[in-house]
Amino acid sequence: MGRRTPPSEIPKLNTLAGLPVELLSSITDFLPLNDRICISLCSRRLFAIFNHRTNPARPLGKDKLPVLRRLERDLPKYFVCYICHILHKYDGSEYFGLSGSVYDQEKCPLRCLPKWKEDGFDLELRDQAPIWFHVYRIFYFLHLQLAMRRFYYGEKFGISTEALSYTQVRTHPGPSSCPEITSLFSTDAQICPKTPGLCLRIQHVMFVHGRKSELLLSRQDIESAGEPPQVMFICIHVSRRRHAILLNTVVKAYISGEKAPSSTHTCDICAADSRIEVCEYGSDLALVLTTWINLGPGLTPDDPRWLVHCCSWELNRVTLDPNHRKDSPRVCFENVSPRSLEALRSCNLSYLKDQRYKRVMHQVYWERGVWDLPTKSSWGSYWFMS
Ligand SMILES: [Zn+2]
Ligand SMILES: [Zn+2]
Repeated sequence: MGRRTPPSEIPKLNTLAGLPVELLSSITDFLPLNDRICISLCSRRLFAIFNHRTNPARPLGKDKLPVLRRLERDLPKYFVCYICHILHKYDGSEYFGLSGSVYDQEKCPLRCLPKWKEDGFDLELRDQAPIWFHVYRIFYFLHLQLAMRRFYYGEKFGISTEALSYTQVRTHPGPSSCPEITSLFSTDAQICPKTPGLCLRIQHVMFVHGRKSELLLSRQDIESAGEPPQVMFICIHVSRRRHAILLNTVVKAYISGEKAPSSTHTCDICAADSRIEVCEYGSDLALVLTTWINLGPGLTPDDPRWLVHCCSWELNRVTLDPNHRKDSPRVCFENVSPRSLEALRSCNLSYLKDQRYKRVMHQVYWERGVWDLPTKSSWGSYWFMS
């Protein structure tokens, strides 16, 4: 049996780590700071040499990101936090507390999550304040980042696209403005491997009992812009007036006798594709708006493919490279989605028919008219109200 090699043995002279200090210093003098930091992390000896010798200026804040991004590639269990500017550990759970409504997201182990919203790393999936559509869903850059990491590195290293699914129903009671209307909002996600990029399919449904088609019209006389269908939302680049025109054109076609009328729209700026349709469902009627957007590869929150969808249009002057506008997010999504648009639409309509949502969804605990579909990770955490 040979003698065990002591762990502290000095590296061999013919290896990088074994070179004399002067020689190492001469080599690394030519390297940029980020490369020097990475070399110094290769062994204790190199770390001691570089930290002792130069007392190097350490990058702070955002300046740490290039080194962190490089380390992240070698350590897929860790990911760069664009808020804290450190590496966080991914705990390996499929949902990481990021699924469901904003209240479910409180279970995310990251203390910094509330700051993601403050610092503008969120996509609220509408241009208005949260109260208006009562969509209690915030989509953070972190969702995109972790879903794409799972795609790049494997299932232990990020969240599933299933964690990005969300379905919410809201009833609009009250005798005055919009009686007998129920609205539904849903999102589902797919990763399109070609570019690659994460695509979202967002569906808004307005459901009226009987065939009261006039209720589906956007009306200028409604004082509260929070009433449907004023809240149906394509993208931040389409003005509220233009939204009303696009939706009303299809509703008016139905009223004038056209069978199952529909129209499509593509945004020149963010390439969001949308389809507007009026469908009869049993004895009831629905206005359905489906929008597809591509959020890009999720490598950095500075990517225009993410930024173009965020904030309000007044603040957002981001434009896309023509190359990134040429693939339709709708085609990319539907090519890989196991669930067709028709299947999604009939599933969503089935929640609304005869108030089935009351049997399969949970009431959001402090808002009596709002219901959402529990995700796997949120079972048992709801406050039940009847
Ligand atoms: Zn953080
Ligand atoms: Zn747009």
